[in-house]
Amino acid sequence: MIALPWRNGFEANNVDTRNPACYNPGNECQSMVEDMKDYTQDFLELIRRCSADLPKDVEGKITDFMNQEEEGSTAQSILRQILKNCEMARERSMPICQDTGTNVYWIDYLDGMSEKEITEQIIEATKLATKKTYLRPNSVDSITSKNTGNNVGVGHPYVHFHRWDDDYLRVRLMLKGGGSENCGIQYKLPDSRLKAGRDLDGVAKCVRDAAFLAQGKGCSPGILGVCIGGDRGSSYEYSKLVLMGKLGEANQNPQLDGLEKKLLEEINSIGIGPMGLGGKTTVLDVKMTAANRIPACYFVSVTYMCWACRRHTMTIRDGVVEYD
Ligand code: SF4
Repeated sequence: MIALPWRNGFEANNVDTRNPACYNPGNECQSMVEDMKDYTQDFLELIRRCSADLPKDVEGKITDFMNQEEEGSTAQSILRQILKNCEMARERSMPICQDTGTNVYWIDYLDGMSEKEITEQIIEATKLATKKTYLRPNSVDSITSKNTGNNVGVGHPYVHFHRWDDDYLRVRLMLKGGGSENCGIQYKLPDSRLKAGRDLDGVAKCVRDAAFLAQGKGCSPGILGVCIGGDRGSSYEYSKLVLMGKLGEANQNPQLDGLEKKLLEEINSIGIGPMGLGGKTTVLDVKMTAANRIPACYFVSVTYMCWACRRHTMTIRDGVVEYD
């Protein structure tokens, strides 16, 4: 897991160094292994929920913004259709959107569990989910352009592991759609085009620019996940992980909390609106975090999430499985 220092109250030095071998499904990177119960069906249920059941906090925000749009406007109509679509998907256990995205997992596991076994169960669940059409066959070999047909391949699904001291297993899954992923952007400050320096004012210019450049593409209303600092890779990872947090939840860092609220208001005042067709709802939320950087670098990474913010968490404690 990547700790989010400002969001979750972790100290920055709690951030784990992770073994790159863990990124390749099937690789064993831990020596102590005990037999693990088969949770394949539970992973499958997690995937189903992510695909078909938009989190309540996201649905609630869409509803709130729909009520603020002008009566009878295109913006209000789009948001109403989005909500209707979500209702139908939930009732029928069908994907909220045809692009079921990159499947990204963050797993916090107990001492003695096997990363290899967990990965194997996730892979099996992924194949089953594809057969059941909870997931579209969405994984393409980048050299041959052949679709693997089952959502499994190098880096698919993408699994982050973190061994923690807690007494339960936590599995967080995000289905990250491609259209919105294409709107992600990374800045390197200072930036002369934006006249952005290495401070929070410069960061704000980057976030505003990212929302402006998207122009409603990536299926707005979106949610902006922002990481200040880190290196090129970790910065993007943090900016994605911060999107696991609930919409509207206050940032524990007062400076970032104030900036999030200010940016949300500013971006929604420029009129891009749902799907770029005008209106007051361009983003549902801005969620920020920060990671330490080296003096030579100052990155600002923005992960753009579409309204189809599909994420759920599963926990397993003493064999009892629960979902959020
Ligand atoms: S950006 Fe999101 S809502 Fe739009 S097509 Fe992709 S997954 Fe679906």
